Amino acid sequence: MRFGRGVVIAGVHVEQRGNIPTSITAVLVGLDSTRELAVGSRDINADDAHGWQGVAHAIRELVVGLKAQLDARTRDELQASVDAADADFDPVLRERREQELAAFTPFELFGVGVEVGAPVFDGRIASIARTGGATRVDFHGFEEELQALFTDERNAITPVVIENDVNALAVLAIHEEHYAVPDLAVFGVFDEGVGGGLVLDGRLRRGGSGTAMEVGHLQVVHIPGTSGAIGSNGGAHQPAQGSPRTFSDPCECGRDGHVDTRATSSRIAGELGVSFEDALTLNTEKARVTFRSAGFALGRAIAHVSNIVNPTRIIVYLPAGLARPPKDEPTAAAEYCPAASAEVCAAFGNAGRERAQFLTYRPLTKEQTAPLCARAAAVCLLQGFIEHALRVDGCSFSTNRKADTAVRHDQYAVSKNP
Ligand SMILES: [Zn+2]
Repeated sequence: MRFGRGVVIAGVHVEQRGNIPTSITAVLVGLDSTRELAVGSRDINADDAHGWQGVAHAIRELVVGLKAQLDARTRDELQASVDAADADFDPVLRERREQELAAFTPFELFGVGVEVGAPVFDGRIASIARTGGATRVDFHGFEEELQALFTDERNAITPVVIENDVNALAVLAIHEEHYAVPDLAVFGVFDEGVGGGLVLDGRLRRGGSGTAMEVGHLQVVHIPGTSGAIGSNGGAHQPAQGSPRTFSDPCECGRDGHVDTRATSSRIAGELGVSFEDALTLNTEKARVTFRSAGFALGRAIAHVSNIVNPTRIIVYLPAGLARPPKDEPTAAAEYCPAASAEVCAAFGNAGRERAQFLTYRPLTKEQTAPLCARAAAVCLLQGFIEHALRVDGCSFSTNRKADTAVRHDQYAVSKNP
């Protein structure tokens, strides 16, 4: 009997535009290997989503549907193996496989990890005040609704853990390093924002209110004391929602000169006045300056983090066109990573280190992003249990240490999602 056989964890990635959910992707992974067993996604219709509570219902539907598919497929495979033994006239093998088929029970769902594009603290999503039109939809009630949907009529709870998207990637990174690297920093460059996740002494660090490593809002353009750096224009100059934003348009938070306004694919595209796909093919002087400047902004942010926490390893997830620009012909996009690396390597905190020793760029295509993030969310659920078992997560344990596992899971879930 293998550990964790027949048990799966669900991981869910919520695709967002600002605070607004647009689609969800779920994966089921085995508890033993965290290998992907099933994956599916669906769009969230803004009209019928009822904000984030609607997302909670969509998540439950998708996860339950995926598990039913996996159960049916596994059963079919067992049946097919019986038929195959039959066709081979192998009665001994047939009998063994028939026993396996008879012993088949549906997979057990161990828990659900969900990652979102917002800071998460103590299991709750902290909504950042936004100036740019995305405030109609908020996260209110999402956590409670989701946990309620994964609690059955007999009050048995399937635990739900919610995590920030880049924090989830950082947890996945230590998991994939087999917990051998005690500290690392992970950065993710997405369409509209740059996020970070920090692992120190083997544990994810969220900070005092869940907003640790919000590197997208680091000031990298204006000198402190100038109006751009200290002021907020209160969104007065925000372009209409949906229209392209250039380097000089304010950040989503209302301020100018933040990393998010420079290093992201949407800003590069906006600055060059073309789609990002088209921007990747350009090789004009303006395009080179733009990509270089974007790379410097990202590198400056990573340099700041390096000077403060000196991570052993730095992993940067980038749109594939930035991480692996085509080699056959020169393009401006090829300037992005070298510019970032130059800033990172020039950081005092990285003095004397060879880039290849500590800094890795990983390409992330649009198709890869959702399944990878969903799997990271599943690993977060597992990590939550590990930290709980090690008693380092601050959850209160039952005074009765012999309380059965189900009860502990209940308490765990309740205290994580009060
Ligand atoms: Zn900002």
